[in-house]
Amino acid sequence: MIFLTRKADFSAAHFYRNLSWTDEQNIAAFGKCANPQGHGHNYVLEVTVAGEVDPVPGFVVDLQLLKDILEREVVSVYDHRHLNHEIPEFASIIPTTENIAVAIWNRLDGKVPNARLHRVRVYEMDDIFADYYGEQTTSVSLEQQAAPELIA
Ligand SMILES: [Zn+2]
Repeated sequence: MIFLTRKADFSAAHFYRNLSWTDEQNIAAFGKCANPQGHGHNYVLEVTVAGEVDPVPGFVVDLQLLKDILEREVVSVYDHRHLNHEIPEFASIIPTTENIAVAIWNRLDGKVPNARLHRVRVYEMDDIFADYYGEQTTSVSLEQQAAPELIA
């Protein structure tokens, strides 16, 4: 199993507002990000797929094909758009970095042939990013999560 990552970027506007809250509540929670006129970011997307290397070309996935899928499913949809107003999945979900990562996962899941989606990472700024690995199908008990030396 090997992991292959392709990057893409898009520019988009958004704002943070819980529509069931008052202006005062939104400003208290989100500060200037609650401005309903929105503001923009240059998002950077990293999509990691996992699979086995095809010995003939030496690829997990053809990188041009992966680029084309990212362009078709995400960049052409989100680039130069107002996420809250123009992208259906954000009509009722606040387009935080975390929610954008989940939405991109949902757009890409099952679209990459011969590989499975492993991680979607979205950078909102150089120092802020969110990772999403899809729904985890196995649960880990608390005993397994704790390092043995931390169990008194
Ligand atoms: Zn923002």
